[in-house]
Amino acid sequence: MTLLRGENLCKTYPNGTQALSQINFSVEEGEFLVVIGLSGSGKSTLLRCINQLHPISSGAIHFEQQRLDQLHGRALRQQRSRIGMIFQQFNLIPRKSVLTNVLAGALASTPIWKSLLGLYSKKQQQQALAYLRIVGLEHKAYVRADNLSGGQQQRVAIARALMQNPKILLADEPVASLDPSTSHSVMKYLQKINRELGVTVICNLHFLSLVRTYASRVLALKDGKIVYQGAPEDIDEQW
Ligand code: ADP
Ligand code: ADP
Repeated sequence: MTLLRGENLCKTYPNGTQALSQINFSVEEGEFLVVIGLSGSGKSTLLRCINQLHPISSGAIHFEQQRLDQLHGRALRQQRSRIGMIFQQFNLIPRKSVLTNVLAGALASTPIWKSLLGLYSKKQQQQALAYLRIVGLEHKAYVRADNLSGGQQQRVAIARALMQNPKILLADEPVASLDPSTSHSVMKYLQKINRELGVTVICNLHFLSLVRTYASRVLALKDGKIVYQGAPEDIDEQW
C-alpha cells in the first residue's frame, strides 16, 4: 500500500533558493528508502517538507490518503505525530537521563503540565524501556544522556522517535557525524525497527556503500531534482 506520495513538489525558500523542483515520488508501506545526494542537493529540505517543518511552495503531499499539506491545527498535529524524525545532531537533553529523553518522545500524547512534572504513566515508562531494549540500551536507562557515545545517543533518539508510534521514520543524515563502524551499528538498528516493527524508513545518506547494504530502494537528488529512482544495485556513480 502506498503510504506517502509527493506530487510535483516544489520548495523555494524565502531568500529565493529553489531547493526542490517538481519532485514526484511514492513510498510503499514497509520500505526502507534511502535518499542520496551531495550536500545542498535538497535531501534535508525534502524530509522537512514531508513532515511539514517547512511549508511546500507548490505540489501536494499525500499521507495515508490525506493531503498533509492542506491540514491545519489539530488534524495536522495528529497526522504529524505519525511521522517521526531523527537528525544528524541527536538533540538529546544532555543532563537528563536516557529514559527521560526517550519519554520526551511521548510529548504529543501527554498534557504539557504532566510532562513538565515528569508525570509519565507507568505504561509510557514501560514502553520507553521496551524501545530502549530494541535499540540495545536498556541497561543505560538511568545514565545521563551526555555520558553516552555518539552512536548510542543516536539510538536513544531512535527510541525517542518510536514513542510517537510512528508509521514512518525520517532520518536526516543520521550517521553523518559517526565513524564507519558506529554508522553500521546505527543503520542496523534502523533496519531492525523497519523489519521487526514494520516502521517505514526514509533515510538521507551521502555514502553509496551504506546505501547498497540497507536500502530497499533509492532516490537520488541533484540540485533539487530526482536523477534516479530504483533498486540500490542499479545506481551508478553518476548522481
Ligand atoms: P542537503 O540536505 O542535501 O544538504 P538541503 O535541503 O539542506 O540539502 O539544501 C538544499 C538547498 O537549499 C541548498 O542550496 C541550501 O543552501 C538551501 N537551504 C536549505 N535550507 C535553507 C533555508 N532555511 N533557507 C534558505 N536556503 C536553504
Ligand atoms: P543540513 O545539511 O543537515 O540540513 P545545514 O548546515 O545545511 O545542515 O543547515 C542547518 C540549518 O540551516 C537548517 O535548518 C537549514 O534549513 C538552514 N540552512 C541551510 N542552508 C541555508 C541557507 N542557505 N540559508 C538559510 N538557512 C540555511
